[in-house]
Amino acid sequence: MSSAWLNLAYLVASMLFIVAFKKMAHPRTATQGNLLGAVGMAIAVVAAFYEYPLATARETSVWGTVWVLSALAIGSAVGAWLAIQVPMTAMPQMVALLNGFGGAASLLVAGAELHAVLHHGGSLPAYGQTIIATAATGIIGAITFWGSLAAYAKLQELEAFKKPLLFNGRHAANAALGLLTLLLAVWLAASPESWYVYWLLVITASVLGTLLTLPIGGADMPVVICLLNSYSGIAAAASGFVIDNNVLVISGSLVGASGIILCQIMCKAMNRSLTNVLFGGFGTTTDSGKKDDDVYEGKVKAAGPDELAMLFDSARRVIIVPGYGLAVAQAQHAVRDLANVLQSKGCEVLYAIHPVAGRMPGHMNVLLAEANVPYDQMKEMDEINPLFPETDVAIVIGANDVVNPLARTDPKSPIAGMPILNVDQARTVIVVKRSLSPGFAGIANPLFAGENTLMYFADGKKAVLDLIHAIKAS
Ligand code: NDP
Repeated sequence: MSSAWLNLAYLVASMLFIVAFKKMAHPRTATQGNLLGAVGMAIAVVAAFYEYPLATARETSVWGTVWVLSALAIGSAVGAWLAIQVPMTAMPQMVALLNGFGGAASLLVAGAELHAVLHHGGSLPAYGQTIIATAATGIIGAITFWGSLAAYAKLQELEAFKKPLLFNGRHAANAALGLLTLLLAVWLAASPESWYVYWLLVITASVLGTLLTLPIGGADMPVVICLLNSYSGIAAAASGFVIDNNVLVISGSLVGASGIILCQIMCKAMNRSLTNVLFGGFGTTTDSGKKDDDVYEGKVKAAGPDELAMLFDSARRVIIVPGYGLAVAQAQHAVRDLANVLQSKGCEVLYAIHPVAGRMPGHMNVLLAEANVPYDQMKEMDEINPLFPETDVAIVIGANDVVNPLARTDPKSPIAGMPILNVDQARTVIVVKRSLSPGFAGIANPLFAGENTLMYFADGKKAVLDLIHAIKAS
């Protein structure tokens, strides 16, 4: 394929990525955006297949083609299998793994290119673009891969990784490792023929990536995922400079920039600075001095569907607040049916979406969209919070941390200052969950003991179906 055709293919792929990003910014066009991105990636992969030096390798040996096609087939099969079998609740772990694979792929590409150049008797200029980009790819790729594996272990709630792992002097240890990695990068840049230095810096960066992620815990995980996503993009962009591939530079920069922007949005939603997230060791304190018994004893009122159904007789406005438990219970279709029943009685129904409700950015929007909930009924936190004082019933389904008033009232709480949905200001609050057990941040929630709160202990889906039945029968 001539270089003009190759460049045209890369240009089209890059344009498709940019349009895909734009479309993915809105739930209505997100599926289309995803598809365009996939088409762009397919074009880029085919073009790369025909690009020098791959093409040369294929001409000199049939094994070159066999290797590439086998890798493509295995990668596509694993990717398709992962995407098909992953439950919605495990998407964040999957995203963490994919970020990690991106980092690993970049560092392997850069390492392979370094070996290929030296193996064929070539040389790289000291402190040139290629060797500096190689060192950068190795460092960022390794941090991304191992950091993502640690994030995966945490989100998968593997027992050994559940709590933030902290040790005395970790900041000093990380600083020393960071410095050592940088020194190795300078060494590699100064003498590019010392290929083993590349793998040494990959090892030190791997330890650094693991040690930087393990102390982060609890409610800060979404930000970490966004950051690792951004790193995987930066590693890909750097590897684009190594192999002189424009589409890698463009797509990597897009991922890097969008990941950082999302990080910023998530930090704001949790009222934490990025430095605090990365170095604060959040989640090490799992309570603010208040025992569960102090918060709940003698104050929790439980109710069943028949009792609760009466609340809706005269309700004019109902706000549904979904959380992670809605995803676990797969209650999104039942919730939409409940909204339809209430609307048929002349009641206004809105959904309050907290930016970090669930286990990944946009988790609740995706679930509700799957159940065909109209987009204009899903309201962001800033828009819905002023409406709670004029709301007859707020129904919290499987949400906990994002409606915990301690964030407003207790400066010692691990979630202090995190903007929350002010459901406690509604006239009546119904909380649907299976027990009084805490949410992701691991702290008690005074909302459950509130004067105006009724606890409806049940699985989210069964609870909503029984409530619909009771409302229809009343
Ligand atoms: P939480 O994790 O705070 O609470 C979820 C609640 O759902 C639990 O208290 C649980 O209580 C309940 N639940 C679980 N299964 C069911 C079920 N089958 N039926 C009914 N209820 C159920 O969720 P939130 O959405 O309120 O908050 C999200 C938290 O996760 C925040 O701390 C956030 O920072 C963090 N996070 C967010 C990410 C993101 O990007 N959005 C990523 C990673 C973490 P019970 O067991 O009693 O039923």
